[in-house]
Amino acid sequence: MKKGQLQIHSQNILPIIKKWLYSEKDIFLRELVSNACDALLKRSILQENEIDPARIDITTDKTGRTLTISDTGIGMLGEETEKYLAQIAFSGAEEFIKAYQTNDAFIGHFGLGFYSAYMVADSVQVRTLSYNREATAVLWSCDGSSEYELQEDARSAVGTDIILHINQENEEFLEEPRLLELLKRFCLFLPYPIYLNGTLINSKEPLWLKTPSSCSKQEYIDFYKLLYPFEEEPLFWVHLNVDYPFHVKGILYFPRMKKEIDLQKNHVKLFSNRVFVSEDCKDILPDYLTILKGTIDSPDIPLNVSRSYLQVDKTVKGLSHHISKKVVDTLFTLYKTDRDRFYEVWADCELIIKLGLLNDDKFAKTAKEFLVWKTTKGAWTQTSEYIENNKSKASDSIFYVNEEQAASPLLDLYEKQGIDVLIAKAPLDSAVMSLLEKELSPVQFKRIDGHTTESIIDSSKEKTLLDADGRTESAKIADFVRSSIAPGIDVEAKSLAASSITGFISMKEEERRLRDYLARISAESPKESFAKATFVVNTNSPVITSLYQMKDHQPELAKMMAQQIVDLALLSQKEMDTSQLKEFVARSNSLLEKVAQTLPTETKVHS
Ligand code: ADP
Repeated sequence: MKKGQLQIHSQNILPIIKKWLYSEKDIFLRELVSNACDALLKRSILQENEIDPARIDITTDKTGRTLTISDTGIGMLGEETEKYLAQIAFSGAEEFIKAYQTNDAFIGHFGLGFYSAYMVADSVQVRTLSYNREATAVLWSCDGSSEYELQEDARSAVGTDIILHINQENEEFLEEPRLLELLKRFCLFLPYPIYLNGTLINSKEPLWLKTPSSCSKQEYIDFYKLLYPFEEEPLFWVHLNVDYPFHVKGILYFPRMKKEIDLQKNHVKLFSNRVFVSEDCKDILPDYLTILKGTIDSPDIPLNVSRSYLQVDKTVKGLSHHISKKVVDTLFTLYKTDRDRFYEVWADCELIIKLGLLNDDKFAKTAKEFLVWKTTKGAWTQTSEYIENNKSKASDSIFYVNEEQAASPLLDLYEKQGIDVLIAKAPLDSAVMSLLEKELSPVQFKRIDGHTTESIIDSSKEKTLLDADGRTESAKIADFVRSSIAPGIDVEAKSLAASSITGFISMKEEERRLRDYLARISAESPKESFAKATFVVNTNSPVITSLYQMKDHQPELAKMMAQQIVDLALLSQKEMDTSQLKEFVARSNSLLEKVAQTLPTETKVHS
């Protein structure tokens, strides 16, 4: 028997590994199984006439409290155990600790290797026989101190057994269900058969490694179900398959959007050579694509901190660009080739598209081509298509309403004039609009209550007759309403193209956008201070005409009704605040009372 010393540079590293990695200790199994895979791969390359079937066996012995990972791989010579386990593996572990101290972001991404076994075991034995014909089997053992022992072993089959003597606090790793869970998570797609106490657990071929042209639609769907058994079918997918200038394979699925999405959550599984690494693809996927699901497998993604940070960074950036390009191209192709399907999936992809548009110039360039809007009539239109179709009536404006206002009476005015009105959702759309306006200038997005466009005015009915004082009737109506209502809202009179509407509240587009923005970022609503409201009274409305006439013989009632009309506009445009609402209800009641008083108390029944 031979004794040796680990190449210790800092005092006993093993307790440190145990302590720091407590929460990540699951990865020990991944590390040991992927070492076994590497050993099998090496043997298949080096030994042409392999006789033993390649396999990995994980066995538990509860009484002996051992967990054994066996492989029929390349094995190690005595001196190789010393070199690889005592020097190489150890220095890898040491390097890891250093990196971990400075940057905990790497945890989970880092191959801690052989020494991760000490997170769960008090001592580890390695029984191994090299494929080398002259080799003799050895038993290497180390109890977590800085000394190891090396002796001959009776083993006759080529390969390696890593025997972990599981410690008390990690007894869970002697339980089959717990191990099965880990193996399914980390090793489902590994290229060699893995048995847990004799049962095969991983016959799954990773679909992402096949060429896209050889995968059927059903295969993509089945694969998704394998990854996410409880999810609904995906909408469509992007198959990544690049070998230059970096290696990446993978399938990214567009999931059906849930009502409540969790943007922080990572859904894409990251693999490195078929070994599951992490669920954190934060740096590889641009933020707006973290909603996607699926797999990314790239040996170029840094699993090892010893690589130059800059080089890593460049590769990761390249990958991220490639992925966003593939995604935007796939969407554009769908838009060009199957418009109906595109509209069908729009609601689910809208968020990704708009976030991409706002955050990534390259993505935005293509995405603008297929940025579509739904109109209040239920039709679809793309931005420049809208401009083209509405040019004659809307000139440089793109009219829209937000979702709540889709039923606004004001809308009739636009629809009657044959102007399309888009439905926009706050808050994302305001940002999208500002972005588009920069490029489309002088075109501007205008909410229909943002101002009075010429297109909704009927100038033939304008009340332009001047009275003795040189004032138009229109100006006088405005004066009457202004003097009747609570201060704070300005009044303007216009002859609108529809008589059914008494008026509407108008606010300057820019001021309203600013107000909405501030309301979103602050707790209080800064309604009054940031957007001046103007009531546009319709001189072409018979209600207004009668009211104006009423003011001479029933001034109090006329005043009340003028305020009521303004309040109705505020209410229908969702601009009314709580105190206004209270007053409105009280006034409505007293108006109803007045109406009730004027009605005859007995109603004649006609037979
Ligand atoms: P890494 O795998 O990152 O090189 P490890 O600490 O996991 O680092 O392992 C160190 C070395 O020990 C490996 O590179 C390999 O040469 C050797 N080794 C580990 N496990 C096995 C095994 N099951 N069969 C053969 N060699 C192994």
